[in-house]
Amino acid sequence: MDHYNLIDGELHVEDVPLARIAEAVGTPVYVYSAATFQRHARAFRDGLAAIPRKHLAFAVKANPNLAVLRLLANEGFGADVVSGGELARALAAGMAAKDVVFSGVGKTRAELDQALQVGIGQFNLELEEEGVVLSQLAVARGVRAPATIRVNPDVDAGTHEKISTGRAENKFGLPIDEALAIFGRLAPLPGLELRGVALHIGSQLQSLAPLERAFERVGRLVADLRAAGHTITHVDLGGGLGVRYRAGDTPPSPAEFGDMVARVTRDWDVELMFEPGRVISANAGVLLTEVLWVKPGPVNPWVIVDSAMNDLARVALYDAWHDFEAVRPSGEKMTANVAGPVCESSDVFAKGREIDVVKSGDLAILRSAGAYGATMASTYNSRPLVPEVLASGDRFEIVAGRISAEAIMAEEHVPDWLK
Ligand SMILES: *Cc1c(COP(=O)(O)O)cnc(C)c1O
Repeated sequence: MDHYNLIDGELHVEDVPLARIAEAVGTPVYVYSAATFQRHARAFRDGLAAIPRKHLAFAVKANPNLAVLRLLANEGFGADVVSGGELARALAAGMAAKDVVFSGVGKTRAELDQALQVGIGQFNLELEEEGVVLSQLAVARGVRAPATIRVNPDVDAGTHEKISTGRAENKFGLPIDEALAIFGRLAPLPGLELRGVALHIGSQLQSLAPLERAFERVGRLVADLRAAGHTITHVDLGGGLGVRYRAGDTPPSPAEFGDMVARVTRDWDVELMFEPGRVISANAGVLLTEVLWVKPGPVNPWVIVDSAMNDLARVALYDAWHDFEAVRPSGEKMTANVAGPVCESSDVFAKGREIDVVKSGDLAILRSAGAYGATMASTYNSRPLVPEVLASGDRFEIVAGRISAEAIMAEEHVPDWLK
């Protein structure tokens, strides 16, 4: 469910006509719906109503905009961060340091120390040596770092190869069959409060089966760790719930996910932690764009829009699907390709697709762009960095301005010895 609907034949975000945003801010522009974020945040929490002790941490990398993070902080969410920059954002958005979890396979020493300094809630360790270094840094600061080890449960998440993280050959996590031994070596270190296990097997999961298999493996590990005398108080189940990008996608609902989690973890007696990203934010955003040209093609016409792969990379990266819709649809359809202006053959949003008839100057949207959209944008081809707008009811506000090609160029410098 989202809040992008036709009112009097014209697409609105909540009560705001998208055309009004295009007029005020220009295109391309990401548009977010506050009510949709709220709805998804609450649905996720409601789905976990049967879980007595839980911590919800929004995966900041899905949508790190400060206004979005503040909105989710207001909904009681903490943050799952994967860099010092994301940590700084979570704090700047008003999240408490203790509600921040630090994930990621390549945390630098400086980032670990930054996180210790502000006192984050948990470090998810990806390798033994990271635990040793974290302990040393913590001792130097006179603190103990709350931490888990992230295990790789070696399950196939059944998702796109580039967003699968839980198979043995992926770079993430410690091999689950070595976890007991590694935990045993890290637990006595003076700077660590090693308290649990974490996992995250992939993103855009369309089935609960791989998650359930992975959770069961982690449940056995928790039992083994306790049998070895360790105190386990926290298990971080990661993120990964998929969303509906196109008709026919049938991702599990938060309620179905919650039922499965409650069943599998019934006897664990831990605080469960969750790191949802996409499921909270994907369908809360669209990329609003203008049709530049309709160029005849040998098979289908090319609808050339003013947004491109530098603004929304998911199609070029993952062969992702984003619905394309006219802001003022006539009801007529045509078969076309949709592409951006960037000089790459991968800058194509749709091929041979039945879409609303559009012509030069029309506005259109690419749906489900609220996760892994703006955050992956670049300025390739010296295009401005795409702005973001947040709408709520009948108001909207720019929450990230367009950064012009000139502003980016101003950061560059020609050495004197070339002049
Ligand atoms: C990316 C990521 C998430 C969020 O994944 P979604 O599929 O967006 O829910 C959660 N945890 C970790 C460690 C991640 O890397």
